[in-house]
Amino acid sequence: MDKINEYLGGRILNAANLENEDLYRLQTLGGVICDATFKKDNKLFCRRCLMEIEKLPIDFQYCRHCINLGKIQVNDKLIITPTDVSYPVQSQYLRWNGQLTSNQQKGVRELINAFQKKQNHLVWAVTGAGKTEMIFPLIEQTLKEGRRVAMCSPRVDVCIELFPRIQKVFPRTSIGLFHGKSEEKYHLTQIAIMTVHQLIRFEHAFDVLIIDEVDSYPLAGNEMLHRAINKAKKTSGMIVYLSATPPKKLIQDVQKEKITLSKLYQRFHGHPLPEPRCHLLFKKIDFWGINPQLRYKLNKMINNKQRFMLFFPQIPIMKSFAKQLEKLYPTLTFVDVSSKDKQRLEKVQLFREQKVQAILTTTILERGVTFKKITVIVLEAQAKEFTKTTLIQIAGRAGRGKDSYDDEVHFYYQYYTDQIRLACAEIKYLNRQAKK
Ligand SMILES: [Zn+2]
Repeated sequence: MDKINEYLGGRILNAANLENEDLYRLQTLGGVICDATFKKDNKLFCRRCLMEIEKLPIDFQYCRHCINLGKIQVNDKLIITPTDVSYPVQSQYLRWNGQLTSNQQKGVRELINAFQKKQNHLVWAVTGAGKTEMIFPLIEQTLKEGRRVAMCSPRVDVCIELFPRIQKVFPRTSIGLFHGKSEEKYHLTQIAIMTVHQLIRFEHAFDVLIIDEVDSYPLAGNEMLHRAINKAKKTSGMIVYLSATPPKKLIQDVQKEKITLSKLYQRFHGHPLPEPRCHLLFKKIDFWGINPQLRYKLNKMINNKQRFMLFFPQIPIMKSFAKQLEKLYPTLTFVDVSSKDKQRLEKVQLFREQKVQAILTTTILERGVTFKKITVIVLEAQAKEFTKTTLIQIAGRAGRGKDSYDDEVHFYYQYYTDQIRLACAEIKYLNRQAKK
């Protein structure tokens, strides 16, 4: 591959890291050399991450905010690489035979409309509404016009899961998957799937920027990442936000008519969201090894060969529960995963392929994953880690298949919290809206 391909497409690169020949070529293609910093209101800002550079008691000042992406010193020069690139024309871009529901079709029309008006748009879709399928026509339209799309999520796992799905339906389009843990080096593609963090490296690069799971960690409340999103979009481009639980700020933007909105209260199969059943535990979950109230449920599921997910607030609680589970149910096959687990993806795959009956997890699997015919159980639901949003997302793991739309969801807790109450109330509200 031509090395220049690794630079093209609105990248912000430190000129010091490039060979003169490449710098010259990029400039002839429209690349622009600029200072690494700019001044505003007497403060110094980093051109790459748009954050303020605080003075350090050292000789060579640099930006600490985006240091993970390579050091930028205040006197450095950057090159912003060209974005006007032509992509091969295809007779057919989208190869997908699925059917959209009338709700999804309405959303598609609203999305295409927003695209034509270069208007930012929020898709508020309940978990399992089929929002990914809904953006296929938008991507198709963008590609047809010779433009470029980025699909981003704050979560690596979500990007990894998305990549093969997009590849399958756009088989002839160049697609890249870029994130901090990826072996794949950046190169110019018409569709780029990446973590939101990667957007820091781009300026005015994308015509359509799709931000999935906009309410999730680490994007929620992160100023640098929000600036990166706006910066990575072309001036003439649009941003699409996707969420089942949109943050207040975006809903306010809708109210102020800064952005437009599509609402999808119904799941793609037309059945309601499973409503959680709540259980008060009289003793801790590890009482007598495993609390007998829980053991009753576990016995039932294990005898019925019912597959299940157990959610825990913290890794140590999960690990000690896993030990008890092994001891009391030696024939049960299960895996446990967390953000610290290097084999996470392989383990999740084992559960997906039904090679194990159960999966124990922290909130790392609260979203972006789809399994069929499972019971979803939250333990210690009163813990602070289980916010309203998290509980709604977790409950949304259940009932995603057409033939298992009524999967069970259970919340076990030692005391009832506002978060539990709000999560259950919102799920009920969404189901009522879907019926209207
Ligand atoms: Zn910076």
